[in-house]
Amino acid sequence: MSLIPKSHPRAKSLLIREKLVVGFDNGLVAKEGLLAHGRGEAFDYLLGEKTGKAALQAIRAAAAQILVAEMPVISVNGNIAALCPKQIVKLSKQIKAKLEVNLFYVNEKRKQAIIKTLKKNGANEILGSKITSSKKLPGIDSARRIVDKDGIFVADVVIVPLEDGDRTMALRKAGKTVITFDLNPLSRTSQTANITIVDNVTRAIDLLINESKKLSKKNKKSLQKIIDDFDNKKNLRENIIQIKNNLTRSAKIA
Ligand code: ATP
Ligand code: MG
Repeated sequence: MSLIPKSHPRAKSLLIREKLVVGFDNGLVAKEGLLAHGRGEAFDYLLGEKTGKAALQAIRAAAAQILVAEMPVISVNGNIAALCPKQIVKLSKQIKAKLEVNLFYVNEKRKQAIIKTLKKNGANEILGSKITSSKKLPGIDSARRIVDKDGIFVADVVIVPLEDGDRTMALRKAGKTVITFDLNPLSRTSQTANITIVDNVTRAIDLLINESKKLSKKNKKSLQKIIDDFDNKKNLRENIIQIKNNLTRSAKIA
């Protein structure tokens, strides 16, 4: 039971924070994951805590990209398992993408806790847990480059919500098409990914599920056109302008 009153003006944000704290207490989230969330919250505030036009365009492009993929894989970390386990499993089933647990701060116990949570939320197969299946991605150092030989290693499209910049770069260098959710349009991940959804993953994930359902009726050619018409750099600029406009408006009121 949540202790946050619904009437609190910041109830939504506090409820999301509470999920992270519960996730931390249950061994899903790393301490650093709490800090990463704080950085995300700050950008969410600046973005107006709602899904903007630019994010909707990125969600549409991401859905099209996922639908044309031969082998999409969703990378799951502790924050995602704490914030939206049900939705991430739902997305994986809908788009026929494999789930792989891939942690920045490698920790076997935490990995098992994440797997358990995903299973509890309906996941069947979860990659990334067997040592015998590990493969190394070139381009980054030691433990952080381990991926599953049947998952990210052979994927053509990788969905990496809340990822680190180094690893995003390594995935790009390995020839993967990368889709990310990242509230900070300035992060290296945002700048490096092919498609960056600048929105809170807790809001955008349902929109991505709905959009991929909607677009699944389209043929490959029209999906490819949606992808080709999308320009990630331009989209990131629009998000930065959104922040600038929000700040300008606030400065006038203050
Ligand atoms: P990078 O390594 O890409 O330069 P960083 O080092 O600033 O980024 P990391 O901790 O590596 O940050 O990555 C976490 C990212 O996840 C941050 O950019 C943060 O804004 C984003 N983030 C945190 N919580 C959420 C959330 N709920 N939804 C979307 N993005 C989030
Ligand atoms: Mg980082």
